[in-house]
Amino acid sequence: MLKGIHFLLTYNCNFECDHCFLYCTPHSKGTFTLNQLRKVFKEITRIGAIESVYFEGGEPFLYYPLMVEGLRIARDTGLKAGIVTNAYWATSVEDAGLWLKPLSKLEVFNLSLSDDLFHHDEEKDNPAKMALAAAKKLRMPVSNICIEKPTVKTDVYTEHGKGTSVIGGGAMFKGRAVEKLTEGLPRRQWQEFTTCPHEELESPKRVHIDSYGHVHLCQGLSMGNMWQTPLSELVNNYDALSHPICGPLVKGGPALLAIEYDVKHEDEYVDECHFCYLVRLALIDRFPQYLAPRQVYGLE
Ligand code: SF4
Ligand code: SF4
Repeated sequence: MLKGIHFLLTYNCNFECDHCFLYCTPHSKGTFTLNQLRKVFKEITRIGAIESVYFEGGEPFLYYPLMVEGLRIARDTGLKAGIVTNAYWATSVEDAGLWLKPLSKLEVFNLSLSDDLFHHDEEKDNPAKMALAAAKKLRMPVSNICIEKPTVKTDVYTEHGKGTSVIGGGAMFKGRAVEKLTEGLPRRQWQEFTTCPHEELESPKRVHIDSYGHVHLCQGLSMGNMWQTPLSELVNNYDALSHPICGPLVKGGPALLAIEYDVKHEDEYVDECHFCYLVRLALIDRFPQYLAPRQVYGLE
């Protein structure tokens, strides 16, 4: 049962990270209005089972007043609310406190800070570390997300046998990460990719929503459009097996998706997401309602 809604408050970001699976840039469009936020909260109340919301992006602090108002509505609706940010705004511990103090009064249950070399290249004056110190001073619940450049460990024993190469670092190979991070990594035969290892497509616990109305089960894989069909209706009527993309993914992973729609492909891919993302990209004009928005596939 769906328990969490993650607002992609904006696709706009002051960064343009290599591992960004939403292809965010400083020029990206797609930001919620306050009125759109209110409409979503009404639908959340109708769904009934939602316990928490997150504000993320893109970079949600770029639209700080809107984010604060969203947090206020969440608190008044009885929902737990979290934030994911790259912490660009933390220019000193003291100044970070200025940004965080109003949030601490809104009972934010998790402030999640991106703290890695994709986002901040210096240990000294690292904004994420300054934001962390400021949050701790205010006794806010705070955590770090750390993604590293893909690393390869060879000769590891896994379910694929002894001597397998395993890729570490935590990056997911979808969006810009496919373009920027897959080169030179070990690959496996496409027939091996028969599951979706990361999303519960049959019974999602959380979805991401954007200002265009897309309800993402995975980045760029939409349940439907909540501006055309109310979110509560989309969620209550969702059936993974009758969804044209999720159905094959649930039954046989990216391999079956490619077979089902006769998609031409390579023999080898880095992992399930790498293959899945490229098959979906090949199908984007055939299923524009379900594979959207185009910008998260790096398209105009
Ligand atoms: S990964 Fe995060 S910080 Fe980096 S471009 Fe994407 S949204 Fe921005
Ligand atoms: S990209 Fe495909 S395989 Fe990877 S998590 Fe998303 S739906 Fe699953």
